[in-house]
Amino acid sequence: MNAEARTYQRGEIPGIIAIDASRCKGCDSCKRYCPTGAITGMFGAIHAIDMDKCISCGQCLINCPFDSIYETVDTVDAVIAKLRDKRVTVVGIPAPAVRVAIGEEFGMADGSLVTKKMYGAMKSAGFEILDNNFAADLTIMEEGTEFIVRARHALFGEEAHGHTVGPLPQFTSCCPAWVRFVETTHPSLIPNLSSAKSPQQMAGPLAKTYGALEIWKKPPESIYTVGIMPCTAKKFEASRPEFNDAYHFLKEKGKTGSATPYPDIDTVLTTRDLARLLKKMKVDFTKVDETDGGPLTEYTGAGTIFGNTGGVMEAALRTAYKVLTGNELRPIEFKKVRGLKGVKSASVTLMDAKYDKEVTVNVAVVNGLHGNIEPVLKSIMAGTSPYHFIEVMNCPGGCVNGGGQPIKSGGSSWLRAALPLFGWK
Ligand code: SF4
Ligand code: SF4
Repeated sequence: MNAEARTYQRGEIPGIIAIDASRCKGCDSCKRYCPTGAITGMFGAIHAIDMDKCISCGQCLINCPFDSIYETVDTVDAVIAKLRDKRVTVVGIPAPAVRVAIGEEFGMADGSLVTKKMYGAMKSAGFEILDNNFAADLTIMEEGTEFIVRARHALFGEEAHGHTVGPLPQFTSCCPAWVRFVETTHPSLIPNLSSAKSPQQMAGPLAKTYGALEIWKKPPESIYTVGIMPCTAKKFEASRPEFNDAYHFLKEKGKTGSATPYPDIDTVLTTRDLARLLKKMKVDFTKVDETDGGPLTEYTGAGTIFGNTGGVMEAALRTAYKVLTGNELRPIEFKKVRGLKGVKSASVTLMDAKYDKEVTVNVAVVNGLHGNIEPVLKSIMAGTSPYHFIEVMNCPGGCVNGGGQPIKSGGSSWLRAALPLFGWK
């Protein structure tokens, strides 16, 4: 680890995003998008990134008008080498937002939805597929159920049967940039983060346990998991040393011969990286056949909407509503938390059938940390927050506008073309 990095655990990758001093014009654009004030340098002078403050979100990178900001971790050649190694089963885990952006790297219209073409291209390159939407459904079940436990504990004093119950409001925890932001700037609020892992980190153990043993019938050590993400911070997340659950589970069951722990996610490709990989491997995305992805690519609409702002909260709350009342939550309830406003809020009144009591749940969605998060956190620390459940995604618009998505010369302006996909004007 770089000797200057003080806010990283041993093993984590610090400094995923860097500024190329030979190209930087000191225009300050990056500073306007940075949610943490990590970028130093006066206007007109060469800028640099303080890696201890940086949360690896890549918003500076996709919005630099001079193409001066780059990723320090290039994983493309390593994945190609694994794809060519017949002893290894490479499992690609594509996130919801990748399928509406990858086509753009091959000349398709912005926002083209190309799920089955993406599967076809990945299979041509040699990947097995575990769709991250499938894992997003798991995250939803976990976060929604955890919210019920926290709410019943806070409202009705329900016992937690030996578990520690976190406080309200519960924050979503699937955005690694947001998690690192809390850890480095507001550590007293760590207990408010949902204990559920992100879809990527649920997908990894699933691939190395159930996938290896039941689907692909391969030794778990021969599975190489590749998160395919719209996100540069996911490279950081995969490197967190606590994420080796598959190894410990398999060791306990006597199903792995390895003496050393291996990571749940071996490496991460961004959307841009996947496009480069396919081009290097001469897979013509435009000509490849659409295919089904296989048994681990089933998912619901709830998993799909993880890719846009408000989607995680909506999906988890729908789950909580169904569990509490036995009924489906009408979509109309969620209109208020859709769209691109900075902080959106809504109240949902429901009957908790177990306690036969009506409960009003106040939810908020923070659409992009920059300029939005501080007042929300201040009110929680002051004990005046009205909210019970808060979704926070670092990138404006959500992961569809992540730091690993295709770059447009006008910054993230391509987002506009994707809005109709989510029913927005
Ligand atoms: Fe700031 Fe994100 Fe760039 Fe880091 S990656 S310097 S946090 S905008
Ligand atoms: Fe990554 Fe999505 Fe968070 Fe952006 S909002 S940092 S793309 S997880």
